[in-house]
Amino acid sequence: MPEWEPVIGLEIHVQLKTRTKMFCRCESGFGAEPNTRTCSVCLGHPGSLPVPNRLAIEWTIKLGLALGCDIAEHALFHRKNYSYPDLAKGYQISQYDIPMCSNGRFTVPGPHGDEEIGIVRAHLEEDAAKNVHVGGAGGRIGGAAHTLVDYNRAGTPLVEIVTRPDIHSPDSAKRFLQLLRQTIVELGISDAEMEKGTLRADANVSVRPLGSDELRTRTELKNMNSFNFIARGIQAELARQIEVWESGGEVVQQTLDYHADTDAITARRTKEEAEDYRYFPEPDLVPVEPPAELVARVRGQVPEAPGVRLRRLASQLDFELAEALVTSGRDGLYERTPGDRRAVANVIMNQLAAAGIDPEAVNADELGKLIDGRERIPRAAFLEAIAHAGDADFAADRYLAEAAVADTSELRPVVDEVLAAHPGEVEAYRGGKQGLLGFFVGQVMRRTEGKADAKVVNELVREKLG
Ligand SMILES: [Zn+2]
Repeated sequence: MPEWEPVIGLEIHVQLKTRTKMFCRCESGFGAEPNTRTCSVCLGHPGSLPVPNRLAIEWTIKLGLALGCDIAEHALFHRKNYSYPDLAKGYQISQYDIPMCSNGRFTVPGPHGDEEIGIVRAHLEEDAAKNVHVGGAGGRIGGAAHTLVDYNRAGTPLVEIVTRPDIHSPDSAKRFLQLLRQTIVELGISDAEMEKGTLRADANVSVRPLGSDELRTRTELKNMNSFNFIARGIQAELARQIEVWESGGEVVQQTLDYHADTDAITARRTKEEAEDYRYFPEPDLVPVEPPAELVARVRGQVPEAPGVRLRRLASQLDFELAEALVTSGRDGLYERTPGDRRAVANVIMNQLAAAGIDPEAVNADELGKLIDGRERIPRAAFLEAIAHAGDADFAADRYLAEAAVADTSELRPVVDEVLAAHPGEVEAYRGGKQGLLGFFVGQVMRRTEGKADAKVVNELVREKLG
């Protein structure tokens, strides 16, 4: 029985957050009444002429540079012809043989070293309209009574990124996407939120015997709207393909949907013919020829890559903690905050994140002071301080002044109460279940609303039971 190597490539669509659409002056963005942000251009009326959005072109170059791509000196827009209700014109303006960005690479640090993921291309196109399926099951086309089309989204600038099949595990695919998302957010070109559809990813999945370099038939996996679902969907599809090969069958090229609720994979009902889009150069648009000065200027605006920062942080912290800091955009605050590295990272990723505090609003020196003194104050005071850590006038001293109750004459009666209330646990502890110590301490902390000094309580409980 051979061992199998996953071979995964990703196709990502990113909606740019320019104020206006790609080829007209209509506002883009969410939340407007359906079909109120349209004009003759994005509705494809005959005789209307597209005018490219300069900022969208600049942002695509910026993203291409962040992905290590070559920027074309002479890129073309093409018409991609197909017929579907969400496409009023009957064609989509996209890029074909000469995309704006090509031949890049993106470094993904992992717990066991770096992986280099090749980028085939990143090109600029316009988004289609949004189909809203009414009736039937959960907004899906199957069983719907009818479909409404909202053209507000039609013509929104969209960048498509295609990777080489260089990814070899579901975890790597997830990490690649999280670092790519963080890169895009930091470039300031998109909110890149999967749940809003401003970042969408499909996966091309195949397997091959470990050690071979053949490329077997791949399937295209769609309908995954979170990073975790993408990892789980790929995992499920890998398992399915391995089973097919090992039982003597043949994997068939097809488009599949992953259903996160049941972990099931189903083939799309619509049979996809080998499509002929009859691409031809868009006759209403001149080629895109970005001047070298523009590319140089944009290159100067690309910040340090999140992957580089992750590699640096992983030398100080557990890889997982470093990854969580970087992919949530909290590593900047971590780097600014003085104090014990592990303690700082843990507080930022746990309490501060749970409190929903904007890391950019936090005074790092005050936070460092608070973290340093947190063992000496009641838990409740610490959490109160964290809740206010994003306030403009936040000062740690105010909270550090609240000393924990360490007075044994005050705490002893509480300990007695707790022990009296749990005779069974007391007996078990005396019988050797030492692990119950934390339970008793926790009960005392609860009764004192977190104000007791945990160290003193610990000693008192031991003393009473000893
Ligand atoms: Zn328009």
